Amino acid sequence: MKKKLLTCTMAGALVFSGIAAGSMSVSAAGEGPNYNGHETINTSILHNHEELVSFLETQDAKQEQMELEVIGQSVQGRDIHLVKYVSDPDNPTILYLTQQHGNESLTTEGTLEFIKHLGTDKTKDVLDGVNILIVPRLNVDGAVGDVNFSLDDYVGDGEYNLTRYNANGVDLNRDHVDKEEPETQALHDNVMQKYDIDYMIDLHHQGAQSERDGELVSGSILYPTTKNADPALVEKSKQLGAVVFDEIDRTGWGHLGKYAGGSAETISRNGIAVEYGISTLLFEMRGMMDHENESYVLGQKSNGYLIKQTVNTLTATAEAISDGSIEEMDTSFWDTLPEQESRSE
Ligand SMILES: [Zn+2]
Repeated sequence: MKKKLLTCTMAGALVFSGIAAGSMSVSAAGEGPNYNGHETINTSILHNHEELVSFLETQDAKQEQMELEVIGQSVQGRDIHLVKYVSDPDNPTILYLTQQHGNESLTTEGTLEFIKHLGTDKTKDVLDGVNILIVPRLNVDGAVGDVNFSLDDYVGDGEYNLTRYNANGVDLNRDHVDKEEPETQALHDNVMQKYDIDYMIDLHHQGAQSERDGELVSGSILYPTTKNADPALVEKSKQLGAVVFDEIDRTGWGHLGKYAGGSAETISRNGIAVEYGISTLLFEMRGMMDHENESYVLGQKSNGYLIKQTVNTLTATAEAISDGSIEEMDTSFWDTLPEQESRSE
């Protein structure tokens, strides 16, 4: 854990020294640290399963308003957790879901930071106006590479590899119609069906080489795109996206594109919107911690700003729902936001 903190601080320092240097600020995020087989990727700096559980239990003991619940078990028998802040059932509720894909891990690291902040005086007032549900890691087996298939070609170094798929080799974010895997069932049976949820952000990582307007993006966003989604719900999803876009765009180091996503309802962004009437947003952060394909992977020098991008996203959306300002958000930027494109080598 000490090692992790040190690394994050150093990565953060790199990014923020870039901001101080003015014109370097954009390059710090967009064109900066890359993998290309050169940079270090040490998966041991991430929270493994035991460290994640220990972190959540420590925060649960410290924070009066937080409740911690086990919503089910993975294929390999690991507990899957739900973090709850429900102060008033009449308040709107947002769900933050991370790591459906086990190799997309900095969203979880940022979410743990956000949970810590909710226990401090600085941000806990937000809980007066919004209920917050957090599933901080759905694919708990893939996140530590405890799977029933070979990982020989994965590029990450450290104690373990990380995989997109669950232990059965299934993509959990294509299982939201059939719900055949225990992880998907835990989410639907014990979160989606039990709470009256208004908004959801589904947090992921994408490849490292996507660009918008000629500059590599720090991430991309998208609302439900199935024709079966209620137009009013889609508009609320676009408002959720507007809060995220404004928050990240104003940082100077963030640069978002529109994700080019499909309409399948097996994907949570679409399926959960239709099945439960929830306004959803997909947020894909740049680069993954591990993969077979080097172009998807980003070295750990980028960890600092990607973790911060997650913390900012969660904080800004919780505040905008809590104070009602989300309902005033202008969604017209979506009409001109270009879809990201793959940078050719
Ligand atoms: Zn993903």
